[in-house]
Amino acid sequence: MQKILIIEDEQEIADTLEYAISSEGMQAIWVSNGSAAEQALIEQNIQLCILDVGLPDCSGFELLKRIRQSNQQHRNVPVLMLTARDEEIDRIIGLEIGADDYVAKPFSPREVVARIKAILKRTQSNHSEQGHNNQGTNADQKKASKPTKQSDFKHDANGHQIHYLGNTLTLTKAEYSLLAAFLQSPKQVFSRRQLIEQVWSSQHPSDDRAIDTHIKTLRAKLRTHNPHTDLIITHRGFGYSLAK
Ligand code: CA
Repeated sequence: MQKILIIEDEQEIADTLEYAISSEGMQAIWVSNGSAAEQALIEQNIQLCILDVGLPDCSGFELLKRIRQSNQQHRNVPVLMLTARDEEIDRIIGLEIGADDYVAKPFSPREVVARIKAILKRTQSNHSEQGHNNQGTNADQKKASKPTKQSDFKHDANGHQIHYLGNTLTLTKAEYSLLAAFLQSPKQVFSRRQLIEQVWSSQHPSDDRAIDTHIKTLRAKLRTHNPHTDLIITHRGFGYSLAK
């Protein structure tokens, strides 16, 4: 059973989430502060965290940073942030630190569950790629298994990792999906909407700024290995492509 960790100090919100999650056959575990969350992550096999920005003992951003920088197994756990309505800055910061997605308060529990499922689907398809009994029908799998022509990159689709100039890139799921899309179609100029579909889904209401943020962090990570080249080209008013 999928274990979802709810990190939220308001009981009413936690109750609503707990109910929505358990009615979908998943197990909800609720903690109301950051230190209890870290303990739960260490002790239990959590598949996804719902993380509120405002917690009593630390901000959700601080906690997310600690999770992503930890040397524990849970550092890659998918995180769905709960942010305040209209606080675009919160969403941008969250994505920059490594959140996988966000939902603004007030939210509908159905929306949250849909996002959880979308994130888990991506995570699980990664897992099934690692298994021996691949169905071979997954579109992502087919896409990912094509060799790339960008010789500086090595895309290990089974391990869900991308190596650049011999270095293994430490990417969030969104950054990985973006770079995998670029490597798959190195000549294509992707619109922001197309990239949103690559990273999330066609129904995702995410705005262009979210994609810009992921591109920004991806560029920064690539630049740490090759400071003199911008590997992602901006096509003003349209979108992005991989440098030729
Ligand atoms: Ca709160």
